Amino acid sequence: MNEERRTLNEEIKQYAEGLLPELIELSEAIYQHPELGNEEYNASRLHVELLRKYGFDVEIPYLGVKTGFKATYKAAKSGATVAYLCEYDALPGIGHGCGHNILGTTSTGAGIVLKKFVDTVGGTVIVFGTPAEETSGAKVLYADMGAFDGVDIALVAHPNSSYNRSGRSLAMDAIQFEYFGKTAHAAAAPEKGINALDAVINTFNNINALRQQMQTDARIHGVIKDGGKAANVIPEYAMAQFYVRAQTKSYLTELVKRVKACAEGASMAAGTELKISNYEYSYDNLVSNQILSDTFMEELEAVGVTDIEPERDSFGSLDAGNVSHKCPTIHPYFDIVGNPEVVAHTREFAESTLTDYAYKNMALVIRALSQTGMRVMFDENLLKGIKDEFASTTM
Ligand SMILES: [Zn+2]
Ligand SMILES: [Zn+2]
Repeated sequence: MNEERRTLNEEIKQYAEGLLPELIELSEAIYQHPELGNEEYNASRLHVELLRKYGFDVEIPYLGVKTGFKATYKAAKSGATVAYLCEYDALPGIGHGCGHNILGTTSTGAGIVLKKFVDTVGGTVIVFGTPAEETSGAKVLYADMGAFDGVDIALVAHPNSSYNRSGRSLAMDAIQFEYFGKTAHAAAAPEKGINALDAVINTFNNINALRQQMQTDARIHGVIKDGGKAANVIPEYAMAQFYVRAQTKSYLTELVKRVKACAEGASMAAGTELKISNYEYSYDNLVSNQILSDTFMEELEAVGVTDIEPERDSFGSLDAGNVSHKCPTIHPYFDIVGNPEVVAHTREFAESTLTDYAYKNMALVIRALSQTGMRVMFDENLLKGIKDEFASTTM
């Protein structure tokens, strides 16, 4: 590391540490008032207030998303555009069990730190507020509407119980099947009815048979949302929702076709009418940019994080996946718990977001994220390498 970078990193450290009390306040305020996806009015407002205070121009709502925002700071001198992605939605019943209060604060913190130093090198810093990661992720809509087209790199680090390199996530489709039959007295005149619940049950059975023939890393899981109203009435309407997931978009397309055939066959057997729709956005698989990921790993080590595990085996899906097909992206994980037994989507994990341990690691990650942005802005060759890799991996 040259002397110039060493000095700059020391300045970043001082500045980030000075910012920490305000960031902790932001994360705790969001924790105390958890809001579900697309209802994060308080959380988005708090992020925006802080970003405005530090000189960002903010667009809220953004692209028609009421709790979404785009905060931009453009230096007088031109240069690379670095984006940080904020999430701040909670889970029903367990509040911030995914740690999005810390996640969003880390991104906003990194944006504010990078903004402080961007005038010297030249470039643009953007912080995107991206609602509803747990359900209908706004990043999907943003990606479709061109939000990331002018962005050179996008970064988001997710709280976890270990540090992990940015990896993959599964492509996902959210499919809804509705079956329309005919009601009748289930005992007095069953022959007059058309049983919509039978169609649902057969769909599950067909899909369970399909599992034998699908790739081992694909996933299909569903629930019955409506299975009738009373045992003595033949259900005239039934509805099931499924998530179908696969490692690549192309295999997902193939698998979804077969899942739909399972529902169509079941519907035909039961004599119902079938309506198929998507009940949430489809998520693309995450393609992590390896050069960008290496750069972030180096910066994590530079701030003193050494215990970094390889990428997680991820069988979940992330709306950051859609971003990764629009611009070079990473989605690494960082430890806020200090105990691998405590996993995300639990109350214990939510409580961990309030600890000194979490704040210490949040501060380190904010520094590593802003230093990564800084390096990409300083080093044209690094950015070119990142972009060449992006072009070759997302065709
Ligand atoms: Zn989650
Ligand atoms: Zn999450």
